[in-house]
Amino acid sequence: MATTESNENGDNVSNHSDDEWREVLTPEQFHVCRQQGTEPPFTGLLYECQDKGEYHCVCCGQPLFSSEAKYDSGSGWPSYWQPISDGVVQTNYDMTHGIRVRIEVKCAGCQAHLGHLFSDGPEPTGMRYCINSVALAFVPTDQ
Ligand SMILES: [Zn+2]
Repeated sequence: MATTESNENGDNVSNHSDDEWREVLTPEQFHVCRQQGTEPPFTGLLYECQDKGEYHCVCCGQPLFSSEAKYDSGSGWPSYWQPISDGVVQTNYDMTHGIRVRIEVKCAGCQAHLGHLFSDGPEPTGMRYCINSVALAFVPTDQ
């Protein structure tokens, strides 16, 4: 059975059309999240963010990554070695670059394109979730 995804306001966001997304996202967010774009490296606002908190999907607000798993990969994009919990992101093969197959990372809540998954990350997982800064909304932990 297919279930209906809803955000915190009860709005159904999983079946937004491109036009509806265009209204709620900036052009840069729309390009990355809905058109599988990639922001230029070392430009994202959250790349160097080291504050404690959670990184949420900019489209639907679902928590995706914790500052606990964020590290400096030197790649120019925010990098994490694991999602905040199981099932919040989906991965699938990205064939758009021909023979060079990459694994795409998407938000499980709204199918937003987030970035790519590589297997050159640090312990304990050895994985690197390489995520576009514009696809994320940072929510600092209350001290
Ligand atoms: Zn989402």
